[in-house]
Amino acid sequence: MVAVSKFHPAEAVREAYDAGQRVFGESRPQEMAAKAAALPKDISWHFIGHLQTNKLKLVLPYAAMVESVDSVHLLEAIDKWGREHGKVQDVLLEIHIASEETKQGFTRQEAEDVLAGAGKYENVRILGLMGMATLTDDESVIRNDFGKLVSLRDGIRSDSGRFPSLPETFGLLSFGMTHDYRIAVGMGADIVRIGTLIFGERE
Ligand SMILES: *Cc1c(COP(=O)(O)O)cnc(C)c1O
Repeated sequence: MVAVSKFHPAEAVREAYDAGQRVFGESRPQEMAAKAAALPKDISWHFIGHLQTNKLKLVLPYAAMVESVDSVHLLEAIDKWGREHGKVQDVLLEIHIASEETKQGFTRQEAEDVLAGAGKYENVRILGLMGMATLTDDESVIRNDFGKLVSLRDGIRSDSGRFPSLPETFGLLSFGMTHDYRIAVGMGADIVRIGTLIFGERE
């Protein structure tokens, strides 16, 4: 479980840390850098927001995982940064599964093309896929959205001929937030990202 601490102060993270939580999610580079510098070093920081390439230097020194890689441009920039700084960065590809136009991410086709050529990114390890369901109370819509991630992952895993350079461990799925994590867990999410339920409403 990623405890999504965005918009909450470092003291709130500390409280969750003292209760035993070690994995936290942040969506703004500056905020993540400040918290990472101030808080214990054994925290695993997951970056989950839209990441601009001019902000990599704030995020990549601290990130255990960038869950929200949503373009080839960003993937290339992370790879380049990793080469220059001696880091192999673990990432997930963000997949557009919701019906809203505004949610970012790769289409299924785009993701498959990126993954088929993953061998050229030597300083990035693509470990799986991330997605956000449509914001709705209709459980069948949410299930349908999450199902797209599961079937995309399963399809990739069963076609090693087309995806020869993926890591052995490829296949992590990150889906499910406060209002839909129960559905996500039931559908086999490996990672859920929960903010409001843990830290309360954001300002
Ligand atoms: C904010 C955020 C979450 C957590 O949302 P809650 O509804 O507060 O649990 C999860 N994933 C992403 C990508 C987010 O931006």
